[in-house]
Amino acid sequence: MGINHLYIHVPFCKAICYYCDFCHRIYDEKLADKWLDRLSRETEENCRDQYETIYIGGGTPTSLSDKQLDRLLCMADPFTEKVIEYTIEVNPESLDQHKIGIMKKHGINRISMGLQTADDDLLRIIGRNHSFTDVKEKVNLLKDNGVFNISIDLMYSLPGQSMEMLQDTLNKVLELKVPHISLYSLTIEENSVFGKKGFSNLDEDMEADMYELIEKTLCERGYIHYEVSNYCLEGYESKHNLGYWNYDDFLGISLGASGKIGNNRYTNTRSFEKYINENSIREEDLHLNREEMMFENVMMSFRTIYGLNMNEFNGRYDADFLSEYSKAIKKHRDNLIIEDGQVRVRNMALLHPLLVDFMDCVLADSDK
Ligand code: SF4
Repeated sequence: MGINHLYIHVPFCKAICYYCDFCHRIYDEKLADKWLDRLSRETEENCRDQYETIYIGGGTPTSLSDKQLDRLLCMADPFTEKVIEYTIEVNPESLDQHKIGIMKKHGINRISMGLQTADDDLLRIIGRNHSFTDVKEKVNLLKDNGVFNISIDLMYSLPGQSMEMLQDTLNKVLELKVPHISLYSLTIEENSVFGKKGFSNLDEDMEADMYELIEKTLCERGYIHYEVSNYCLEGYESKHNLGYWNYDDFLGISLGASGKIGNNRYTNTRSFEKYINENSIREEDLHLNREEMMFENVMMSFRTIYGLNMNEFNGRYDADFLSEYSKAIKKHRDNLIIEDGQVRVRNMALLHPLLVDFMDCVLADSDK
């Protein structure tokens, strides 16, 4: 059976945000040309299917020149016949009329825009080069060009962020009237600028209060909290990400990209030198056993309000979900909804301890 989801990583940004340790470099035209040459080879060698979802992420795909962006999307064109959702990540400062034209020409129908916070002072503190007004203008530009399927990325637990500041950001984002909002709490990564400067995370209680504030504010305005960090208006779930949460296979290509095909989970190298000059570009190449795959499947599926489909799970692993995890199910019965062949988590705030017990069932099995 073919693969339905394709991820392409663009490893360039115009500037590096202080909290970020993704795989990227400051955009350089010549290096980007070489990267595209290598990506073209990787595409020819690995892309064999017609994908239902394609996601171009980064980095910042719009940091590429118009010509390079067009070249990248031309590479993906032969695999878009069946595409339902075709997303690209953009940053407000590098999105313009020309780039929107190029994206539309190649069938892109969903935009994910990084905002992080609507507080201009806080944007400067975290190293972003745009204001909230820039985001507002670019959202309007997209809508003027007929692109309405827009997702906005926000962060909370930012250094110095108060509950009032977060509430103000939520109110301003609601005014943008976009159908999808993602919210991630800041985790200070060692390799980010913040990590190197010795910043630490906000305290856990404050983070939990912020999580509740977000849920209350967005759900009151009609958004569905469909995944731990994601909200949408009805029908606007990210179909590509639902593939990850359903533990479907997906092909990831380019520098630093990950993929999962059957029991093989891999990550490509983050080194430009290795990516461009060597034939073998894998940094990590794991072959998971049945129990590991089963647990990863549970862990991903429990993140959404749709949960896990037991028939599909049992067929995938020749298993019986209810007996494999009977101990954990018994312990967390009050926090699980089991009906119509689905298993769902009632209270996502208690997801972590629940998963620890599900993992113990798997470990006990593999020890037998
Ligand atoms: S957050 Fe996005 S734009 Fe900022 S450095 Fe990371 S990948 Fe680049």
